[in-house]
Amino acid sequence: MPDQDAIVIVGGGLAGARAAEGAREAGYDGPLVIVAGETELPYIRPPLSKEFLAGHAERASIDVHPAEWYREQGVDVLLGRRAVRLDTSAHTLELDDGATLRYRRALLATGASPRRFPGPGGDLAGVHLLRTVEDSVSLRDALRDGGRRVVIIGAGWIGLEVAAAARGYDNDVTVLGLETVPLNAAIGDDAGSVFATLHREHGVDLRMSTSVAGIRGEGGRVTGVELDGGDVVPADVVVVGIGAIPETGLAEQAGLEVDRGVLTDAGFRTSADDVYAVGDVASVFHPVLAQRIRIEHWANAENAGKAAGRSLAGEAVEYDEIPYFYTDQYDLGMEYSGYGVLATGIEPLFRGDREGREFIAFWLRDDRVVAGMNVNVWDVNEAVQKLIRSRAVVDRAKLVDPAVPLESLVGTAG
Ligand SMILES: Cc1cc2nc3c(=O)[nH]c(=O)nc-3n(C[C@H](O)[C@H](O)[C@H](O)COP(=O)(O)OP(=O)(O)OC[C@H]3O[C@@H](n4cnc5c(N)ncnc54)[C@H](O)[C@@H]3O)c2cc1C
Repeated sequence: MPDQDAIVIVGGGLAGARAAEGAREAGYDGPLVIVAGETELPYIRPPLSKEFLAGHAERASIDVHPAEWYREQGVDVLLGRRAVRLDTSAHTLELDDGATLRYRRALLATGASPRRFPGPGGDLAGVHLLRTVEDSVSLRDALRDGGRRVVIIGAGWIGLEVAAAARGYDNDVTVLGLETVPLNAAIGDDAGSVFATLHREHGVDLRMSTSVAGIRGEGGRVTGVELDGGDVVPADVVVVGIGAIPETGLAEQAGLEVDRGVLTDAGFRTSADDVYAVGDVASVFHPVLAQRIRIEHWANAENAGKAAGRSLAGEAVEYDEIPYFYTDQYDLGMEYSGYGVLATGIEPLFRGDREGREFIAFWLRDDRVVAGMNVNVWDVNEAVQKLIRSRAVVDRAKLVDPAVPLESLVGTAG
């Protein structure tokens, strides 16, 4: 049983695993425990809607670390155990089996859970959510034989990635989205329409501006999705991809400051002494933006997770990385770096071949690049990040001219 000196991490996802690594790298050699709600050692989720779902990746390839790593590093992972109560004055954490852990410092890395379909029919057999490796295996089993009618509710990143995987197995795929253009909240209409065309060209029936009234079934099994207005889209398989909700329950119970995420400073400290938070669950102060942001992306769990581990170990940390994420759909690969909050509502400038889907999109605010997205153009994301970090005033004509090296725009007078 860990003693009062222990670091206890709640949540065995990517952020939790990287935090353990960060703490050890920073020289912390005391007891270190991860309370992992799932029964699997920490794994990465992005492949669950991509290569793993498509059957192109082995289970072992998604592990954050092999099992030996935890043994070698003296990290005690309590699999299948959930923390149910945090007492910040007693410095204790109660688990669902009644055990109590004492901590010197605790980290909340409890992630997020998929939003369930709010209307009728969400519990029917054949309706899938996608968050865990079990979810992905079960969906893969439902898709792999092909020839099924698959209806995806939600035209966000996960919905579109699942659509690509489902088409890869030769299923009939319909995607239903509320917005006029997929992904418009994340990247706007002009860039989102690139993804709309991509999916339509691959045979997806993409129906936007479409609201779902309920999921229909017979004998407990899904048969279709009813739209507002009464039309029913027949379905053998339904995937609900309508976002995720941060797992803030433990923090709320403990009286921590929470506002759609556990609030922290740039060193991941919450409003309670010796309690930190990181990953999808945390809303972290970003020094460049001078505001808090909650980021539901892999790179944040990876990099901020490590930084939080260093902070737990006592290092002075001010996390100021530029948010980054990626997607893979069919033959399209994309990387995005930047401050989505600053890019919202702005349509980007395009450099390269938008129709041919080989381009970089740039979002500018006051003539400074605040975000960039490279699509099927590689080895440029570092330059995009440099451009953002430099806050250089850029010449728009040069920015959209592929003949002008991006590096030359960094440091343009401004
Ligand atoms: C299908 C899918 C595809 C994705 N694709 C991409 C992508 O292409 N690019 C990208 O950038 N990001 C992607 N993401 C997002 C990315 O995976 C997340 O940002 C990342 O997993 C967040 O890591 P985390 O450790 O903060 O949280 P999580 O991965 O959610 O891990 C949190 C863990 O904590 C556990 N837990 C919660 N409460 C408790 C408790 N009380 N006690 C014990 N344990 C608890 C949970 O069971 C879970 O295991 C994807 C996510 C999904 C689901």
